[in-house]
Amino acid sequence: MAGGWAPDGAVQEQIDASVEDAVELARSQLASGESATHCEDCDAVIPEPRRQAIKGVRLCIACQAELEEQQKVTLSSINRRGSKDSQLR
Ligand SMILES: [Zn+2]
Repeated sequence: MAGGWAPDGAVQEQIDASVEDAVELARSQLASGESATHCEDCDAVIPEPRRQAIKGVRLCIACQAELEEQQKVTLSSINRRGSKDSQLR
């Protein structure tokens, strides 16, 4: 079966490569390195140390804490979703 393995090997290499690409893409989206200067939620200035500590940060400390709190709430009462209207605007 000379030559029979080569195409299969090439296909497997392509699959491996695309999985690696997907991982790389997800990783780059998670930490784009471009930290926001202002919070996407409330427009508060994000302090420089925070921007450097968390690559690709989008939210100020207050909004991040609120988000994490909401996620905890969502987990603990998954069938009772909080309305975004309850947030301070
Ligand atoms: Zn904010």
